[in-house]
Amino acid sequence: MPADESESGTGDSGTGDSGAPGDGRGVLLVLAGTSGAGKGTIGSRLRESDPALNWSVSWTTRARRAGEREGVDYHFVSREEFERLRDESGFLEWFEVYGDLKGTPLRYVVDELAQGHDVMLEIDVQGALAVKRALPEALLVFVQAPSRAEQRRRLESRGSETEESIARRLERAESEERIGAEEFDGVVVNDDVGQATAEVAAILAFRRARGRSPHGDPPHGD
Ligand code: 5GP
Repeated sequence: MPADESESGTGDSGTGDSGAPGDGRGVLLVLAGTSGAGKGTIGSRLRESDPALNWSVSWTTRARRAGEREGVDYHFVSREEFERLRDESGFLEWFEVYGDLKGTPLRYVVDELAQGHDVMLEIDVQGALAVKRALPEALLVFVQAPSRAEQRRRLESRGSETEESIARRLERAESEERIGAEEFDGVVVNDDVGQATAEVAAILAFRRARGRSPHGDPPHGD
């Protein structure tokens, strides 16, 4: 996506100290990656297999697609509602692309973390970086396809992408993978979705365990 076609921002996270491992707060897992890498599938599998993982439902102004459910896939809101929350610094991060706004509501994430609950976000790469700036302890995991050819195959098999949009997504993948390697806490190559899900779960388990290590106070007093 050309930079001039998007706009983004962060709210004042309002959390002050964003927390450190072992301080009793939950882990904020942020899944992002290249288009067609399969992060949505990995996210769904994690939700099913890990009941302790809460997921944040983003707000969006885009039209609801067939099969999407209000409050599950997104909160579908008007532009006015979105802008009102944005102007109150109510988003942890938000962005606008091709006229649609999307954002992560701040209050839900902050409240869950404060209660010691783990939260997962599945957002785009720039959004993940914005979260890291606001909450440096966030655990960023980057998901990528095993090869450009396989990524292309997956995008084509969706049946909904134009050749132009596929070309744009493949081109963007180069720079996104560089960001993944340099800025994220872990990179998972999604060759086999079961294995890739297990890898993300292992990265999360490692961070959870760190929070309970002798170097930090036990997060739940246990
Ligand atoms: P969709 O196909 O649902 O319109 O867009 C999906 C893309 O938007 C995915 O890359 C997804 O990760 C990203 N996305 C969904 N919600 C948010 C959000 O709240 N913030 C950001 N930055 N990206 C989001």
